Amino acid sequence: SSKLSDLRFDHRFTDALPADPENTVQPRQVYGAAYSLCAPTPVAAPQMLAWSADTAALLGLSAEPEAMAAEVFAGNRLLPGSQPYATCYGGHQFGNWAGQLGDGRAILLGTVIGADDNRIEVQLKGAGMTPYSRHADGRAVLRSSIREYLCSEAMHHLGVPTTRALCLVGTGDPVVRDMFYDGHPQQEAGAIVTRLAPSFLRFGHYEIFAARGELGLLRQLLDHTLTTHFPELGAPSPEAYIAWFAEVCQRTAVMVAHWMRVGFVHGVMNTDNLSVLGLTIDYGPYGWIDNFDPAFTPNTTDRGGRYAYAQQARVAGWNLNCLANALMPVVKNQAALEACLDEYAEHFETHYLAMLRDKLGLPQDGSAEADFKRISALFACFAAADTDMTIFYRALAQIAPDTPADAALAEISPAFYAPPSSTAQAQFALWLADWQACLAASPESVADRRTRMHAANPWIIPRNWLAQDAIKAAEAGDMSVLERLMRAIRNPYLEQAEFTDLAARRPDWARNEPGCSA
Ligand code: AMP
Ligand code: MG
Ligand code: MG
Repeated sequence: SSKLSDLRFDHRFTDALPADPENTVQPRQVYGAAYSLCAPTPVAAPQMLAWSADTAALLGLSAEPEAMAAEVFAGNRLLPGSQPYATCYGGHQFGNWAGQLGDGRAILLGTVIGADDNRIEVQLKGAGMTPYSRHADGRAVLRSSIREYLCSEAMHHLGVPTTRALCLVGTGDPVVRDMFYDGHPQQEAGAIVTRLAPSFLRFGHYEIFAARGELGLLRQLLDHTLTTHFPELGAPSPEAYIAWFAEVCQRTAVMVAHWMRVGFVHGVMNTDNLSVLGLTIDYGPYGWIDNFDPAFTPNTTDRGGRYAYAQQARVAGWNLNCLANALMPVVKNQAALEACLDEYAEHFETHYLAMLRDKLGLPQDGSAEADFKRISALFACFAAADTDMTIFYRALAQIAPDTPADAALAEISPAFYAPPSSTAQAQFALWLADWQACLAASPESVADRRTRMHAANPWIIPRNWLAQDAIKAAEAGDMSVLERLMRAIRNPYLEQAEFTDLAARRPDWARNEPGCSA
């Protein structure tokens, strides 16, 4: 494996697009440019708190961090060839156009030529002010940085498209935040997450140029996107732009179907938080489904539930529509873009149904109508009995077509947060009988079905209360709780006896805990 000082940088983004001519971090509107050169602000006492060996391998780096890694990923020490920058983007927040947003607390160190010659952008989140910091400080608290580090790695191991996290560095500088639960400013430990992705381009990167009528820039950004990230779509042209939009729709559909499968709620699906590579990006007040509740949102500021669990496919479609509007001035073919949006809805439904069939062990070639009916009947059961979604699906795999009704009910009982009423029990019994009849009619063996179900149903997910426990320990200087959780989530589909306590139902104290960020 190589050393940090051996890393080589590629300047494909900054070479392809115009830079902001100004060179300060004075908050401002940046016109006529895609990015601003700006260096991370050094911190007082960089300390390496966590290092992902899996992610390090992508850069060809060793499984243990070198001594200078803390300084490098705190932004205190620049690697040779790195020319840091922050990018300009806009976005629709909660349905309204918000104008320029941009990398307000994220700074790209550049594109690293990684192992196997792949290109990976390396970004520090929480590295200080940029021209896009608006009224804020460009910093991140330890709490939110742990949440991003933990969840992006968990999502990767769950098989959900995502940005990655390389490491977590404590800054030694306190950060001041208004904590939502008492409203008083508090000092908290600061930290920086280093995250990796082939690209951090968001829908909002295209929207800002369209909104400002900077169509030359919009075309330049599209051409860069196509040639760098979608070479298979051919040379840039209005037709290639449409093919690209169709691909973004397809990837977004797959990503959201995975979120639904594992019970992930992003929490802030603004258009500045959606990646054009179809990666889950910007882990803020996200959360996980414990008891199945379609209206669940971990985001306490989302009073209307715009970004609730069951709204995610619809709102991703709404966001894609914003991207389509941004492309209109250069694509000039409304019908073609609308056709992509229609296909998005179909793609989502197809992927979601396929994933649900795997979760339930149902044949993939059955009647979609009958299966959707079966699925809504199951969701009604979940609602009737306060059922833990993750535990239910794993337990279901233990039931065979000939398991007697009371044994089948006993199998799923660990999924209930409270003893189910007799009505709810009867509802589940009816559903299970229909499901068992369906299995009995299929030629798939019990063992094969169980394997298929286990591959679609995680045994462990990084539930909010687990993150809270890891954060509490880390704030007291103990990283071992996070380390243990990271080991457990590395094999989320595998039942691991040593981690049974981490795969349990959410404890009572954690009920209705928000998925905090900042
Ligand atoms: P988010 O809601 O985290 O996706 O962020 C929305 C916008 O606010 C983005 O432009 C962020 O860069 C910016 N932002 C969020 N937190 C901070 C912060 N602490 N300092 C500067 N900018 C921030
Ligand atoms: Mg964001
Ligand atoms: Mg953010």
